[in-house]
This record gives sequence, structure tokens and C-alpha cells, in this order.
Amino acid sequence: MSTYRDLAHRGSARGTVLRTVGSRERRSHLTAPRVPTVGIDIGGTKVMAGVVDADGNILEKLRTETPDKSKSPKVVEDTIVELVLDLSDRHDVHAVGIGAAGWVDAHRARVLFAPHLAWRNEPLRDALQARLAVPVMVDNDANTAAWAEWRFGAGRGEDHLVMITLGTGIGGAILEDGQVKRGKFGVAGEFGHMQVVPGGHRCPCGNRGCWEQYSSGNALVREARELAAADSPVAYNIIERVKGHIPDITGPLITELAREGDAMCIELLQDIGQWLGVGIANLAAALDPSCFVVGGGVSAADDLLIGPARDAFRRHLTGRGYRPEARITRAQLGPEAGMVGAADLARLVARRFRRANRRRVERYERYERYAQAFRNGAQALGDRTPEDPRP
Ligand SMILES: [Zn+2]
Repeated sequence: MSTYRDLAHRGSARGTVLRTVGSRERRSHLTAPRVPTVGIDIGGTKVMAGVVDADGNILEKLRTETPDKSKSPKVVEDTIVELVLDLSDRHDVHAVGIGAAGWVDAHRARVLFAPHLAWRNEPLRDALQARLAVPVMVDNDANTAAWAEWRFGAGRGEDHLVMITLGTGIGGAILEDGQVKRGKFGVAGEFGHMQVVPGGHRCPCGNRGCWEQYSSGNALVREARELAAADSPVAYNIIERVKGHIPDITGPLITELAREGDAMCIELLQDIGQWLGVGIANLAAALDPSCFVVGGGVSAADDLLIGPARDAFRRHLTGRGYRPEARITRAQLGPEAGMVGAADLARLVARRFRRANRRRVERYERYERYAQAFRNGAQALGDRTPEDPRP
């Protein structure tokens, strides 16, 4: 935290605050300033940005497409800056938190790898901090979602919590005593790639038999499409629903049909749920939390999924009958969890910041853009700008 020596040596309170964005949260959420912050969730297809107050309420929300993987890292950065500037027109923004689908290093400064984006060891925090002039925090999206569920959702009051997000794959996060456990290198919680079936289905990660090949949205859709492609009589209902066009079979459609009582869809969700329970039992053996929160798109199936998961969990739990059982519950905050959590984590590094400063930053951004355009133009003419210091 800031001391007089820091201030004297570095000259500004800002420098001090920025340095506290270091390797861990030094402020507790209880002492963090109760100011609104911006949370940004960068997923594979959508970027969601919102202003969130200290109680987890979303004051305003914006959405845009995730720039294509082929685009340069700068394009994603521009997208983020635009969203934040847009929101800060109407709100005081005291910090920005990013929840990204990817691996973030232990200092939460760099995105080591993001499967859906061009980020490879990308110094995202410093780049954004320099452009936005507010403290920025970068974290994995499952970590931010877990934080949100612990602060405002299904995990309130739990001091040992494990979050599992079932989307196209499996994301995970561990929370203990009010802190996200990130591991030494920042990439803890990649539960989806624990091997559950030796020599099983091939996984894009390069291995076989990963948990997410058996319990995820992708697994659900793969199984349904396989049955439909084999023209199985149990799949007639779903084939009819997509008018024979098998690629139209999606996770939400399967969930919808299961709710309507379609036997095949119910069974497929049961299978996914059972595998979910097996994996959760493994996690309980290793981590022994008091609560598992299941989020992500597939969790919309609710009891059709969580019920079988609870049964399988009880059957596979090590030392069953002789130990307290963890609670398995569905996440409450829905698709906004990652964004809300990112914003709330950002409050740990937030500082008071007024909109007047924000306008100055915007003017500077605009000036930078003109200057860049000017430099480009000058270069095109084989000329150099007078202030260009190069020989
Ligand atoms: Zn894998």
C-alpha cells in the first residue's frame, strides 16, 4: 500500500496505486473504495462491458463482437478502449477490470495465451493502463465469474468455493478465504483438461480423454449430432425439429427439448451431469471445498443436469459416508457473472477519479490518433515530421 516513502520517491499517488495492481490483492474487498468500476468480459464471440456499482448492480451494459482471431492484438485493445470511453461519458469510472478467456500470468499483467484471440504473452494491463489512465486489472474469466458468485451470487458466505463453468468447454476457479487461488504461474483451475478417460475422445488441447470432452456444451452437442447422423430412432424428434439439418442442433435446443420431455435429450443431459459429478468428486478429493458453483451456458438445464451430477458425486466421493459433503449449486448471476466479477475485482485497485480527468484523457487519445495519422501520411510521402527525433 502507499506509504509516504513511495510518494516521495515516485512523485505521485498514481504511481503508487498502479504498483499495487501487482501480484495479489493487497486491499480486501471490504476496504476497497465503494466506487463504480467497469468490468469487461472478453469471450470467444462477444465482448461485454458494464459499469457496476459496489453492490454488484449493473448500471449500464454494452456489447460488441469479439474481433476475429486473425486481427492484431491492437484491434482488441482498441475495442476495449472504445467501450470504456463510451461508458465513461455517462459514468465516473475509477478502475477497469478485464475477465478474459485465456491464461493470465500470476502478476495479472499479461495474457499468456487466449485460444480465441491473437494474444500471445500480451502485456495487456500496462497497454490499457497507459491509454486509459485508470488502474486496470486483468484476470481469467472463470476467476472473475467465481468472484462474482462468491460476492453477490450462489456462493455468498462460503469461504472455500470451487466454480465450474460449463460452456463450450470447462472453465474453473478456486476461491479460499476471500482470495482467488491462481497458482504460482497464474493458470490454476484448468479443470477441463484433467484426464477422466484414458485414451478417450481427442481434445483440441492435444491430449485424449479430457473432462471437458465428456461434460460440456460441446460434448452435449457432439453426442446429439452423432445420434442424429446415425438416424437413431431416439433422435427422430430432434431431427424433425431441425428439419434434418444436423448442424442446427445446439446446446440450448437440446435443453429446450429436454424440458419438453424428449427422452433422448434428457438422457444426454444426464450423461453430461454424471460426468460432471465424477469430476467434482475428483476435485473434492483434491481441494475439499464447502461448495461447488456450476455456471456457464449448459447450467441453464438446471436440475436436469445438476440432479444427476449430485448423484454421481455422492457415488464417487472419496470417503463417502465419513465426511461432510460439499454443496453443489447452480450459479445465480448468469452470463453477466464474468463482467460483474471483473468490475468488483477492479475495485481492489480503484482510486478516486473524476470525469474531468477522463475528458483530458479523451483529448489526449484523439490527439494521439491525429498524430499517428499525420505520421503515417508523412511517411507515405517519404517525409518526416519535424518533431521526429530519428536521424
Ligand atoms: Zn484437453
